[in-house]
Amino acid sequence: MTSACGCELQHVPRVVVLTGGPGAGKTAVLEVLQQQVCRHVAILPEVASILWKGGFPRRSTTSGRRAAQRAITRVQIELQRIAIEEPTTGLVVCDRGTIDGLAYWPGEPAEYYEELDTTEAKELGRYATVIHMESATRDDGYFATSTRVESVDQAQEIDRRILAAWSNHPHRVIVPSSRNFLLKLDQALALVRAEIPVCCR
Ligand SMILES: [Zn+2]
Ligand SMILES: [Zn+2]
Repeated sequence: MTSACGCELQHVPRVVVLTGGPGAGKTAVLEVLQQQVCRHVAILPEVASILWKGGFPRRSTTSGRRAAQRAITRVQIELQRIAIEEPTTGLVVCDRGTIDGLAYWPGEPAEYYEELDTTEAKELGRYATVIHMESATRDDGYFATSTRVESVDQAQEIDRRILAAWSNHPHRVIVPSSRNFLLKLDQALALVRAEIPVCCR
């Protein structure tokens, strides 16, 4: 159930991305938000999960990984576009963004952008703010699940790669890993809430 805000204003949509390595807590943040925000806030799902659940082949070959990454990025772009074109949207919150693909791309960053017919500047420019939640460390209670196949070391490595991929974004905030998961959750929630149009908070 989402809350009603009574806001009748026409918003200029703003797009923010919630990212981070596996086991960072993004899903928990988005689930809490989903319960609390008004209809002017669009929360987009993680595209990789949609594709894997839908049967997109999860191959470990270089060409298979490239195909998956291109597909993920293209679907992200379309989902974001649908949300932005919706006349009521004031804020779009993305579970990962197009730059995340670099962390999984087997090859040079330049090839990634070239194959998707885009540039780093264009992709960075989609997002007003990047909120990066660090993957939980072993001490902070990282655990694998049926869809989260990475070991704790792999998760840390992906987290580092995602941090590096977004390093040129002018407005990025990092939520550090913490033994106190609720504290981390609260920090991330506060950062996302601060992006909601004032008229809709
Ligand atoms: Zn609203
Ligand atoms: Zn509003």
